[in-house]
Amino acid sequence: MSENCLNVFHREKFLKQINEYQIELLIIGGGITGAGIALDAVSRGIKVALIEKSDFSSGTSSRSTKLIHGGLRYLKQLEISLVRETGRERAFAYKNAPHLVHPEKLILPIVKNGTLGWYSTSFALWIYDFLAGVGKQDRKKMIGINKTLELLPKFNSKGLLGAGFYSEYRSDDSRLTIEIIKKAVSMGALAFNYIEAKGFMYENNIISGVRAYEKIKKQEINFKAKCVINAAGPWVDQVRKADHSIKGKSLRLSKGVHLVINTNKLNLKHSVYFEAADKRMIFVIPREGKIYFGTTDTIYSDSIDKPKTTKQDAIYLIDCMNKAFDGINLDISDIISSWAGLRPLIQDQNKASQDISRKDEIFISKSGLISIAGGKLTAYRSMAERVVNVANERMNFNKNKCKTKHIKLLKQNNHINTLNIIENQLIKFEKLNENYAYYLWTRYGDNSLEIINKPVRNTDINIALIINEFEYCLEEEGVYHLIDFLKLRNARVYFFNESIPLFINELAEFAREKLDWSENQKNKEIQIVNDFLNEAINFE
Ligand code: FAD
Repeated sequence: MSENCLNVFHREKFLKQINEYQIELLIIGGGITGAGIALDAVSRGIKVALIEKSDFSSGTSSRSTKLIHGGLRYLKQLEISLVRETGRERAFAYKNAPHLVHPEKLILPIVKNGTLGWYSTSFALWIYDFLAGVGKQDRKKMIGINKTLELLPKFNSKGLLGAGFYSEYRSDDSRLTIEIIKKAVSMGALAFNYIEAKGFMYENNIISGVRAYEKIKKQEINFKAKCVINAAGPWVDQVRKADHSIKGKSLRLSKGVHLVINTNKLNLKHSVYFEAADKRMIFVIPREGKIYFGTTDTIYSDSIDKPKTTKQDAIYLIDCMNKAFDGINLDISDIISSWAGLRPLIQDQNKASQDISRKDEIFISKSGLISIAGGKLTAYRSMAERVVNVANERMNFNKNKCKTKHIKLLKQNNHINTLNIIENQLIKFEKLNENYAYYLWTRYGDNSLEIINKPVRNTDINIALIINEFEYCLEEEGVYHLIDFLKLRNARVYFFNESIPLFINELAEFAREKLDWSENQKNKEIQIVNDFLNEAINFE
């Protein structure tokens, strides 16, 4: 059991002496951007702390398409440098977190009157592989109609000309974020969820810290810091407003929705990236016995805290799927879960949201607040490198260069071996759901062994293991609420929601004892999970 700030039983001790740490760099926002900055800074030897107003990754970084990809469609917009950067970042992400970043083949069907024909698809994929430096064995292939239909038997064959078959990576955005935060903390960073930056402290008009509110013990805390980075994603402008520093460019939010269905409706071996009738591109991705697809791209100006999937969003995506795949006849009642996220794009009044650049930008206010906005999950490492360079140059913390290309998130390097070890350890348990080893490994990597080796506290091994997983997350990942555990630590609300009624009462009782909840509080926590499950399939 770690005795660091991510252990919920030790956090208060760290907060009590927070200003003794003499924080050099304070990060606002615990999404992938903030996480990447924390890891970059601490590995250069900078004293760093991160605060997150809700749970880690609860913003856009748990609501993406979950791909580590170069962004093929940005080629059309001639965003060559973005495609090159994200394409190359994929390889670092895979090398450093093989349990979280999985190679995934994508099929890009080519249809008559589509935006790209056979030769232009072949050329675009060739450039894509070239920019990303893809190895020979993984480079694109062009496949004919028969092979396309063999791989995608239900794809609408009318006007089909064949397909491009190319390589990307699939990930889990939340897990990637928390694993990066854990790595940063293991190297000396401080990271706290449920602490909201409310305003700034100044000395001679220059920011000298953050006034914050801690939501677990309900207390005000001031964080002194030499430099503050605003990595608040869709909330970046709200934080800039608190510093009275919104000038020039601002954010434009665009909502993207994903829906989840069972494989009895559509069974796929590979992901598909197809062009819908309105020329928008749709991803269809198999994951753990389910299929998810998306996304929409609509300008958003409602509550940033709770973007929702509307009936209109759901009908649009279902319609795209029904047109692309023969005879699947999807209907709203087939949706088993969904999520909606907000892209923090940098304002360009003259462009539709799908045409606005996904590049990140850094803004520096007169008070010294460094804000970073835009960007992609895939490019988190290089974005962090750029912004820490800026902070380091301004503040002269030290001369150390970025090291994150070579920081592995797993303890062991041989990842396949780790999966085998987990499988072998699970053999001793009877009646365990299939693929449990894969479930654990793709979330916790070699830390899965800690979960397995905790005491067995229930006669049903499936319940015993979920209790152990929760206890691990209390001690190592700062989990405070059942919904955070089921949404942001293991994604069960999206991909295994049928399992939740089987253990929720036992899990809630365990949490009540550990976290000293009242009976009332326990029931409220269960209610929040049930409300979430309902909202994810009932659209207004
Ligand atoms: P966030 O994840 O939103 O993090 C910001 C955090 O700041 C939040 O957790 C928030 O709670 C916190 N915060 C806000 N205000 C405060 C405050 N005052 N005090 C403390 N904390 C605060 N990229 C890819 O590479 N691949 C994809 O497949 C992909 N698909 C996408 C699909 C969709 C639908 C969307 C919307 C985006 C997608 N992206 C993808 C982009 C990617 O998800 C985002 O670029 C990335 O997650 C943004 O991360 P972030 O950390 O900047 O923002």
